[in-house]
Amino acid sequence: MSTFTVKAFGTRASEANLEQMQIDRREVTAKDIEIDILFCGVCHSDLHTARNEWGGTIYPNVPGHEIVGRVTKIGEGVSKYKIGDLVGVGCMVDSCRECESCKEGLEQYCEKGNIQTYNGHDKHLNHQTFGGYSERVVVDEDFVLKIPENLDLAATAPLLCAGITTYSPLRHWKVGPGKNVGIVGIGGLGHMGVKIAKAMGAHVVVITTSSSKTEDAKRLGADEVILSTDGQQMKENAGKLHFILDCVSAQHDINAYLSLLKRDGALTLVGAPEHPLPVAAFSLLVSRKSLSGSAIGGIAETQEMLDFCGKHNITSDIELIRMQDINKAYERLLKSDVKYRFVIDMASLKGK
Ligand code: NAP
Ligand code: ZN
Ligand code: ZN
Repeated sequence: MSTFTVKAFGTRASEANLEQMQIDRREVTAKDIEIDILFCGVCHSDLHTARNEWGGTIYPNVPGHEIVGRVTKIGEGVSKYKIGDLVGVGCMVDSCRECESCKEGLEQYCEKGNIQTYNGHDKHLNHQTFGGYSERVVVDEDFVLKIPENLDLAATAPLLCAGITTYSPLRHWKVGPGKNVGIVGIGGLGHMGVKIAKAMGAHVVVITTSSSKTEDAKRLGADEVILSTDGQQMKENAGKLHFILDCVSAQHDINAYLSLLKRDGALTLVGAPEHPLPVAAFSLLVSRKSLSGSAIGGIAETQEMLDFCGKHNITSDIELIRMQDINKAYERLLKSDVKYRFVIDMASLKGK
């Protein structure tokens, strides 16, 4: 298969910094689209993977799964996109397309395992997939999304992961008017969760460890804010919420958050800390509470989310960075010090 080389930023070992490298991309096949990457969001999953916190990272690793860019080339069988279109790519670039989950449009739960945008298995080139911290990417048109034209492009990139990862469970758990919804952890995912839950009509309660985020939380759309490090505030709010979306990236006491749920309330984990979280049986059984998880969203639902955000004028609050500043950005992510998503301006990698 013919390939071409592009500049990228990635890491060669779990303890190593990210650095510039060359990677190969396939020339478009019949159903492929080649995308000139304009912006790429920085998800905490990029950091977990680059540092092998979940295990299984194959090096070199080029992260990045919040990709927006412009179509520069299409295969002869492509029907959904044309050269010049603004498009997005999220966390997946393929799936088996035949299993029950794939047939239901839930490719993220593909029974054979979806193909992740990075650190997945590239069946064309028979090595790991490389993500969006790069100049260009080649993706099957079925895993490419249309970007609403009214939204700022850089601020739209985070919708491709942070947006869909929060939208999907909020929809699944029927969040809307009359529901008190808690969002825990106001980083990239959490701040999108606040905006989307508010647009769905819910009463939104932000639960944060950062007192510096309480004012912002209201601006983002929160009706109330609980500082989780304040035991008194946590006690006063016990039993008040119908649903909680937990977007925390590090170790935390999940039992404390479960105490905020009403009878029959549910907490869904989207945050994926490195180590298991202990759960006391009594945190669940006393008021028939549920604990569940959720992973990104299917392609059709991701398009639905983008259209929803286009309609409600929702984008991410971002800090635009240069590719060369990625290692500093990772250090700030670890300190919960980003308001609220880093987005890489890919012109910095292309030397423009
Ligand atoms: P992020 O921007 O770093 O935000 C994480 C937030 O968690 C922080 O801003 C902080 O919010 C809170 N936090 C951090 N340490 C904490 C602690 N020890 N106790 C309580 N709260 C703490 O990360 P992100 O990109 O939003 O990603 C969040 C998590 O979701 C990551 O683990 C990521 O891998 C995972 N993720 C999962 C999926 C999925 O499909 N399920 C998709 C994408 C990402 P406050 O300052 O408000 O406390
Ligand atoms: Zn992500
Ligand atoms: Zn499948």
